[in-house]
Order: sequence, then structure tokens, then C-alpha cells
Amino acid sequence: MIVMKFGGTSVTDAAAIDRTAGIVKGRVERCPLVVVSAMSRVTDALLAAGKAAGEGQRENALELARGLRERHLATAQELVSSEQYARLGADIDHEFNTLEELLKGIVAVGELSPRSSDYVVSYGERLCSKIVTEAYVARGIRSTLVDARKVMITDAQHGKAIPQPDAIEHRAKNLVRPLLDAAQVPVMGGFIGATEQGAQTTIGRGGSDFSAALIGSGLDAEAIEIWTDVDGMMTTDPRICPDAHRIRVVSFEEAAELAYFGAKVLHPATVLPAVQKNIPVLVLNSLRPYSEGTLIVNRAPKSKATFKAIAAKKRITIVEIVAARMLGAHGFLKTIFDIFDKHHCSIDVVSTSEVSVSLTVDSNEAIPAIAADLEKIADVKYAGRNAIVCLVGENIRETPQIAARVFTALGDINVRMISQGASEINITFVIREDDVPEAMRRLHKAFFTEVDPEVFD
Ligand code: ADP
Ligand code: ASP
Ligand code: MG
Repeated sequence: MIVMKFGGTSVTDAAAIDRTAGIVKGRVERCPLVVVSAMSRVTDALLAAGKAAGEGQRENALELARGLRERHLATAQELVSSEQYARLGADIDHEFNTLEELLKGIVAVGELSPRSSDYVVSYGERLCSKIVTEAYVARGIRSTLVDARKVMITDAQHGKAIPQPDAIEHRAKNLVRPLLDAAQVPVMGGFIGATEQGAQTTIGRGGSDFSAALIGSGLDAEAIEIWTDVDGMMTTDPRICPDAHRIRVVSFEEAAELAYFGAKVLHPATVLPAVQKNIPVLVLNSLRPYSEGTLIVNRAPKSKATFKAIAAKKRITIVEIVAARMLGAHGFLKTIFDIFDKHHCSIDVVSTSEVSVSLTVDSNEAIPAIAADLEKIADVKYAGRNAIVCLVGENIRETPQIAARVFTALGDINVRMISQGASEINITFVIREDDVPEAMRRLHKAFFTEVDPEVFD
């Protein structure tokens, strides 16, 4: 079997869903299981509706829900027969009635709990998977809806729940495998799950890729296909550098670094379940289904290229901790890390000097509280609106003077922190968020103007 995951842009309207049906049909003999995201921008709208409700803005919240109801109904109507629509339209209406009740409930309580937020946001994937299933049936595909909440078992950390691979494998074998054996095409929403007790959860933004990898791993898929709106993993974000090249093959390790440091095309955790089972992952373009895409494999073939790609992760805060007396002292860094840990805040880049520790975290609401805790032991400053830029490639290990070349290419752009990962396959530095587009263009020009045709398109 294979897993085919279609991202939000690939299911954004009736024409897009129709295109995915064609792609799935072409692969029916490989026994596909389809994982879909919410239609594009729906997750953002649901989060906004939940937030508005929590802040008591009843009309705003309901207005957002009304807009989504119209969009889903119109899409469904375009895709299915009138008999199918009689049922599907009623079902969608019913779902939106319950969503509106839920939003009113949140207004009444006056607070949006993480648990309610997950419930609100789950409508995106649930509705989309229903529409896609019926659209496939209407196109002669024997497809069956699978409720992701029965398969994607997670812990109870709402908003960023951690999937439980053993439970998922068990459920997938019991609930999904029989459908595949009966030559059905199961369709499941990504991103959402539930605890063993049935409380709805979500596994982090962009998490449908992760869902696809987990279920693919649980069912020993032959391949996991991530269908999106670009030709594959590119040398940099094509929205910033239109002359970005497609990467034909990357290693799991390179893809993981890229994804972690902002290459949005793939969720960071995706590659892990796949790499553990040696399942190839392909990134493909649903707008150009015959383009080859990017293949992610355990070991990428040798190439002449120093770098495979450049990624940038915005909304980074630098925290500077100065404690002249304490730094050399045993256990000081541990104390610092424990404080971040207590606030569930993970650190990306760290650099230390004689008297200070600088580190970066994703900008988040916990930072003032973290700073207050740190101030008990040191002087603390923090500044948001920074970005991590990361150059990735397995040949970095063997290339001399690489940092010098990178900083020459950056020219007058001010670099605030530098680190070379322990894995030695990335060079990472921190700059101001506003400098990102220019930095990416300069680096791309310096390192990707002439490329090895065996690795890049
Ligand atoms: P989906 O809805 O399919 O999940 P995403 O928006 O999550 O799509 O990811 C695809 C987008 O990722 C592309 O449209 C592209 O702008 C962006 N992107 C950022 N960095 C890269 C990169 N290195 N290669 C390809 N796409 C990238
Ligand atoms: N719909 C979710 C999001 O927008 C999950 C995903 O698209 O992968 O984050
Ligand atoms: Mg995505």
C-alpha cells in the first residue's frame, strides 16, 4: 500500500479535489490510503473563530463559521451527484450547526480552553475528508471515510499532542487494513486525533504530513507521497526566490534539518516514522502530477553540491542571559534549560561566551514568564522579530572554509548568532526577520547559480 497525503492547497476547491481524484485513480492498483488536510486557510479561520468566541466576539465568530459553511457546501455541491448531495449537504449543515453551538458555548463560558480550541479546529479536516470521500465515490473510486480520531491516538497535550505510534499501528491494522484488503480507498483527515479516552486533539500546525507518515509507518507502506503546490523540496522557498531549483533526492537527515528550520513544505516530524522503517517519502506537485518531485531516502547519493538548500524560520526570539559569576559554575546551564523546560519551551540555537548565554526560542506568550524566572539567577534581555537561517547539506563536513564563504555572501547583513550543528550537516545563524528575503537571495545566488544536474533540476 501507499499513503497519499494532499495538503490544503491540493484540496482548496472543487477543481483541486477533482484533480486529486484523477491522481488517486492513477494509483488505485497500489492500494492507496488518502490523508487530507483542511481546505486551505480553513484551519486559520477556525482558530480565529475560536479566539473570537473566547474573547466574547460572538458575531465575529459566527460570521467566520457562516463563511466556512458556505464554502464547504458550495464545494460539495459542485463535486457530487444530487442524490449524494442530499445526504452530504445535510451532514455538512449538521456539522456547522454543532460548530455554531460550540462557539456560542465558548462565548458563554468566556474562555477558549486548549481542549475546546482543538475541538473547533478539528472541523477543518473532518469536513474536508467527508467531501473528498464522496467526491471520489462520485468519480468511481471505492472510497470509505475513516474517522481519524479512531486511529490517530495521541497524548492529551491539546494543540501539540504527541502521537502514540504503537496505539496508532494497532488501530490502523484493525480499522484501516481490512478496508485496504477489501480494495477500498480509505480517506482520513490528517492533523487531528484523539486520546485513548476519546478527547479530540491536534498534533501541531502542518501536522497532516506527520499523520501520513505515522499511518504509513503503522501499515508498512511502500511509499509516502506528500502532494503539495510546488514541484518538491526546492533549494529555497520559491516564494522568496522564484529561481529556486527542485532537489531530486535528499537524505532523511537533510530533509529533517530543512523542515525543522522552516522549509514549510514538510512537517518536521514527518520523516522520522518513515526513516525508522526505511519507507521512501516523495514530495509531489498536485498541479503538475507528472513532474518527478523530490525523493527523500535514507542515504542520498554522493554529489558535488556543498549545500542542498537554504531555509529560514521566522518569529524567533533571542534570549540573552548574562551572569558573570555563575557561568563557569557547575550546573548553571542545566538550571537555565530547566526553566525553559518548565514552560514547555524548546530551544533551537545556543551560544555561550565567558559571561553570557544566548539562545533562541520560537516567539511565544511564555517568554515574559520565562524571563522573570531567569531574572532570579541572572540578567536577562530578550528580543523578538529575529529569524534562523539554515544551510543544509551532507557535504558541509568535507568542505573547508565554508563559513567564510557564507559570511562573504551575506555581505553587510548583520549576523547575531552563529552555530554549526552537531550533525555537521547544517550551518545555522540568526539575523533580523526583515533581512531574511535579502539574505536568502544573496545566499541562493552565491551557492545555487550553477548546480549539479544530477541532484538539482
Ligand atoms: P500544503 O498545504 O500542501 O501542506 P504548505 O503550504 O504547508 O503546503 O507547504 C508548501 C509551501 O512550502 C510551498 O508553497 C512553498 O512556498 C513553501 N516552501 C518553503 N520552503 C520550501 C522549500 N525549500 N521547498 C519547497 N517549498 C517550500
Ligand atoms: N490544516 C492543518 C494546518 O493548517 C494541518 C495541515 O495542513 O497539515 O496546520
Ligand atoms: Mg503543510
